[in-house]
Amino acid sequence: MSAPDEDELKTLRAENKKLTRNLRRQTEINQQILKNIESSKNLVRMVDKEKARLEGYMDMFLNNSADLVFLFDKYGGLVFVSNSYLTPTGLDILGVSGKRICDLIEDYMDKDEHAAARPILRKAFDDCVEKELDIRLCLYGLGIFRNYMAKITPMFDGNVAKGFIVILGDVTELVLAKNNAMRLSEVKSNFLSRMSHEIRTPMNAIIGLTVIGKETEETAKKEYCLEKIGEASKYLLGIINDILDMSQIESEKFELSVNEFNFEKMMTRVSDVMSFKIVKKNQNLTVHIDDKIPPSIVADEQRLSQVITNLLSNANKFTPENGNITIIAELLADYGNTCLICVKVLDTGIGISESALPLIFANFEQLDSGVSRKYSGTGLGLAISKHIVDMMGGNIRVESVEGDGSSFIFDIVVEKGSAEVFGGGKPDDESIFEDSEGIFEGHEILIVEDIDINREILEGLLEDTGVSMDFAYDGLEAVAKFTDGENPDYELVLMDINMPNLDGYGATMQIREINKDIPIYAMTANVFREDVEKCISAGMNGHLGKPVDVVSLMKTLKTTLLR
Ligand code: ADP
Repeated sequence: MSAPDEDELKTLRAENKKLTRNLRRQTEINQQILKNIESSKNLVRMVDKEKARLEGYMDMFLNNSADLVFLFDKYGGLVFVSNSYLTPTGLDILGVSGKRICDLIEDYMDKDEHAAARPILRKAFDDCVEKELDIRLCLYGLGIFRNYMAKITPMFDGNVAKGFIVILGDVTELVLAKNNAMRLSEVKSNFLSRMSHEIRTPMNAIIGLTVIGKETEETAKKEYCLEKIGEASKYLLGIINDILDMSQIESEKFELSVNEFNFEKMMTRVSDVMSFKIVKKNQNLTVHIDDKIPPSIVADEQRLSQVITNLLSNANKFTPENGNITIIAELLADYGNTCLICVKVLDTGIGISESALPLIFANFEQLDSGVSRKYSGTGLGLAISKHIVDMMGGNIRVESVEGDGSSFIFDIVVEKGSAEVFGGGKPDDESIFEDSEGIFEGHEILIVEDIDINREILEGLLEDTGVSMDFAYDGLEAVAKFTDGENPDYELVLMDINMPNLDGYGATMQIREINKDIPIYAMTANVFREDVEKCISAGMNGHLGKPVDVVSLMKTLKTTLLR
């Protein structure tokens, strides 16, 4: 073989170079491909990781969700169900896989409710449409049903149905809240119609008897009408006070105000006030007061009397003629500075049915309308009583058998008072007038009042006492009485609050700049605690409510004029 010539060598070298270059490029490309493959692998790994993470969350969501989540294939057979269904039913996925929604819930539904729901669920699956319906399931046994809002949603891939998702959201709390709201609104509207009746009845008596009284010439008949008008008015005032108490309770503004008083005297006064009605029904009232109860205690006397009066008044109302009513007050425990007192009001009346007992202290409830139509009442008394006893840190309860009497029992912890207080308690009767003729002769008071009838009433009530009355018709006039130079000799100002031009607060503040000492008492229909506080901070010495309580009025006059 001959050696290659120079030309051939040149060509071979050039080809070799080209091959080497191509090889290098191919190696670079291969390396790049390998790199790309590696990064694709990384990407796939990342995607897988992310998918796993999302699936983890999905599982977590499905298995921890309080909602029951079911996935079905396009034929309506179960492919997945959340633990919220499996755990309480004790089933496992293999046992239920492939089942239809109606079969999965049948064992946990009321038979009739299931029969009603089945065609609706079927149709949603057959028609491939969204559907919502309310169902009740008893998944946890013990006959306790919970409410669910079932939502069926078909899943599509383009136009082709691929399956269904059914979510049963637990709406028990919502349903309960809605039912409670509806019940409350029903109770309140019953209450309003009862209240309308309760207010119209005495109003009817007042209006009718006023006409009769005016037309008759007979003094005895006139007196009878006036007496009945008085009774109806007091009843009406009782209703208004109950409504106001209830509204204070509802707005959480109800407060107690404690004072020291003689417990036995308070009990006697309460039974004295009721004695007229008790005698009228020929009932026997027995009162036992444990002599271990300290003579003087510190509590809200007015509210405590209100509770006992309410219980006694119910005992009187719901016990037939000749029945027995017993009040027992006992000392249950002595803790040194405080003690536990129990008060029982027992009657031999109509009693309370077992089903009504749990409702008896509820707000706005009056029991069975048959009973309540026969006996008038607002149904507020016991709710208010319970509230008062609760506020006193006590407990009120009832024991009763229908047809066999009732026992209302409450206990409260009270502070012991100082032994000297043997008085206490306001007399509630109007006998205070018996010895009042001319007692305020030579004394002058200013009455600030814009309403004619209110002025007339005060004039009428105080006429016989001999007190000299001057009148101002609004706050401005009242202030003018003090600024017009003639230094008035008033010893007391009775100040209305709501008046045109200048109200009672403004008038008091201006009078106080001129005269710091003159006693000024509000006489107003604004009777809430914050109203009383407002009067005191405006510079008044005290507060008298309207309608005028003659006993408190006379007491105020006596303490301010006869000092
Ligand atoms: P009112 O007596 O004004 O209707 P209450 O709140 O004092 O309102 O009483 C609520 C209901 O409880 C009464 O309507 C009555 O049905 C029942 N009740 C209360 N006390 C007695 C009782 N001593 N005996 C029988 N039923 C009673």
